[in-house]
Amino acid sequence: MSHIFPRNSRAAPPMVARGDGVYLIDTDGKRYLDGSGGAAVSCLGHGDPQVTAAIKAQLDRVAFAHTGFFTSDPAERLADMLIDHAPAGLDRVYLVSGGSEAMEAALKLARQYFIEIGQPTRHRVIARRQSYHGNTLGALATGGNMWRREPFAPLMIETTHISPCYAYRGRAEGESDWDYGQRVANELEAEIARLGPDTVMAFVAEPVVGATLGAVPPVEGYFKRIREICDTHGILLILDEVMCGMGRTGTLFACDQDGVVPDITAIAKGLGAGYQPIGAMLCTAKIHDAIADGSGFFQHGHTYLGHPVAAAAALAVLTRLTEGGLADRARVMGERLQSALEAAFGQHPHVGDIRGRGMFRGMEFVEDRETKRPFDPARKVSARLKAAAFEAGLICYPMGGTIDGRQGDHVLLAPPFILEDAHIDEIVDKLGTALARAI
Ligand code: PMP
Repeated sequence: MSHIFPRNSRAAPPMVARGDGVYLIDTDGKRYLDGSGGAAVSCLGHGDPQVTAAIKAQLDRVAFAHTGFFTSDPAERLADMLIDHAPAGLDRVYLVSGGSEAMEAALKLARQYFIEIGQPTRHRVIARRQSYHGNTLGALATGGNMWRREPFAPLMIETTHISPCYAYRGRAEGESDWDYGQRVANELEAEIARLGPDTVMAFVAEPVVGATLGAVPPVEGYFKRIREICDTHGILLILDEVMCGMGRTGTLFACDQDGVVPDITAIAKGLGAGYQPIGAMLCTAKIHDAIADGSGFFQHGHTYLGHPVAAAAALAVLTRLTEGGLADRARVMGERLQSALEAAFGQHPHVGDIRGRGMFRGMEFVEDRETKRPFDPARKVSARLKAAAFEAGLICYPMGGTIDGRQGDHVLLAPPFILEDAHIDEIVDKLGTALARAI
């Protein structure tokens, strides 16, 4: 009997034996193409020699030194490199161990900032429905996946949710993308007015929505309008790039493509690429200095902040993404993946939408293409697709997201950026097999 929990099913999953580029191999020797990089984590694939060498070298120097006493060379260099590549205006880095931790730190930083600048009434957060920001209590409160939140609702910080920017389902008949984007962005202004501007501290959103909607990018102009509204009302914009950041969408930061700079951003997943657990929160000098020049101390912290081995791994990952050109490759190969998916499934009677940016693609499945009617949740289409794809040797990330109170089905494809054309053919072939079996 295994002592590990949780398990998604009674049957134990296969045991992973090793990784080889875009493949994971189990102890029976079966190979799985890692079409979702786990959950958009393994951006470099498995067994990257540069990253493993960097980890080993750091372990030989020193594994751990508490940030209450020391800084470390890899942590300092990682922070410098992140800021060199971050949108202009983001100037300070706080290194944590994962995505939820980065979001938790972002929320607390925002709150402390307003206390320091003499606006202590600001504590409310506005976020979006059908979003995910992590599983710790603050991050979970911010997320708009009602099923995940519900049992823990009594423990949560005050957050309200507006519509996501989800053109496939939200755009009205005859409405332009632009008008749709402005309309849903303006929901933020209405919500601020309803709550009272002096009580709101932050608006939180994923630039490209990951797990909950399946790689849904915003329409043009949406985030610029959001930025404007935040500025008008003195509210901080927190962008969660935990899943869509670090080159996943073809630029190192996803928000680069929307022409906005957040006040705070959270990254993780691709930053460690699965080689080490690491995340980071980046913020502007204005926020940092308000605290540094005020009480002097961000009232937060975890034991493994700035862990030297995790930082060394992330530094090597970031070097591969930038100097190694892999973030650019994600853009180019991601477009080829989109074209291949459209060619194979664009006319499929149950494929409603194929979307995304860079190496971050989603397919939404519907009962009826014309009306976009989702499948009955009882059919568990996305779960069956995941199982059928896995059986065929393809890993893809499934989700039944809530759409107007109903479950909708999609899968997320987020392969490693080292993907070759032959792998795209293999993804399409295996997805085709899975679709034929599952629907
Ligand atoms: N934000 C987003 C957008 C995510 O996709 C995730 C993880 N799926 C998180 C936050 C939480 O990250 P972690 O699981 O590393 O805590």
